[in-house]
Amino acid sequence: MRVVCLPGDGIGPEVMASAERVLRALAPDLELETHLLGAAAIRAGGDPLPEETLAACRGAAAVLKAPIGDPEFDAADIRPEQGIMRLRAELDVYANLRPARQGDVDLVIVRELVGGLYFGARGVREDGTVFDTCEYHPRQVERIARRAFELARARGRKLTSVDKANVLDTSRMWRRVVREVAGAYPDVELEDMLVDNAAMQLASAPRQFDVIVTENMFGDILSDLAAAVTGGLGLAPSASLGDSGPGLFEPVHGSAPDIAGRGIANPVAMLRSAALMLEHAFGRTEEARRLEAAVDRALADTPTPDLGGSATTASFTEAVCGALPAGAR
Ligand code: NAD
Repeated sequence: MRVVCLPGDGIGPEVMASAERVLRALAPDLELETHLLGAAAIRAGGDPLPEETLAACRGAAAVLKAPIGDPEFDAADIRPEQGIMRLRAELDVYANLRPARQGDVDLVIVRELVGGLYFGARGVREDGTVFDTCEYHPRQVERIARRAFELARARGRKLTSVDKANVLDTSRMWRRVVREVAGAYPDVELEDMLVDNAAMQLASAPRQFDVIVTENMFGDILSDLAAAVTGGLGLAPSASLGDSGPGLFEPVHGSAPDIAGRGIANPVAMLRSAALMLEHAFGRTEEARRLEAAVDRALADTPTPDLGGSATTASFTEAVCGALPAGAR
């Protein structure tokens, strides 16, 4: 029941305080402990992911992370972002789930997180040509496909696999492996979609989607598009899961240095990340639904300034606690 909380930088500590307040009300048996990551950790000891933080994360049931990043370190050799990249790799969280929900749009993008163009061979040739390569092993595709089919089975039983199979060999292999995995999930409807069409469909008709599975870079881009059509980055949570060990739950947005310290950060993405943690790390689906409903209620009643309202982080948090069922306040 131990949760490692990483408050991070900028608005991170403000939105983490909100999540801790709500979790203490809703799930008081969880043990929340705080460790340093990012710029705060560099300032304290020179390392964006201190050994003691990594050890605590490895031994926890879940890691709840607020955004990291500070413009002060933009040009430095040791940067806050190196801490989060290393933490994801150390925990081998290869499946990045990004739900996007608003009105009758309710979809989840399952993005492969540790392969593809961002991790393949790269370099500069003698003539000055710079290259990055997109590489996938069929095993990497198989494990992310299984994860996506399992999720689709627990939701609307429809899976859209996004690729660029008309051009790329990695995509043709991706499509073949996903279809093989589909044999074990006859109850889930599978469709293949080219990424350019998927971008257009997401922007123009997002209601058609249930679960989308795709490779790293396509998922990076499509999930921000999905966030944009469902209310913006301030509302978008994510869960990064491996096969064993703790999952990592964090907002999609950054540390928002432009509004840090003013008490006006929108804590919704952080609170929805906590709901994903309750569901995926602890199987406490009922509590997750209660938290999501309370957040929706507070959003309708008293939005924060980024959504045109005037709530502070603290008053929004109290509105969420007030909307929780009696007995969990
Ligand atoms: P950002 O997401 O921090 O901010 C973009 C804009 O959205 C800003 O105007 C900001 O005020 C607003 N915004 C973001 N979250 C908000 C919230 N919860 N409530 C209200 N407004 C919000 O992106 P950026 O400015 O490009 O990046 C700032 C720093 O964050 C950089 O150092 C970057 O590296 C880091 N970053 C970290 C993560 C992470 O920790 N996973 C992710 C993205 C960016």
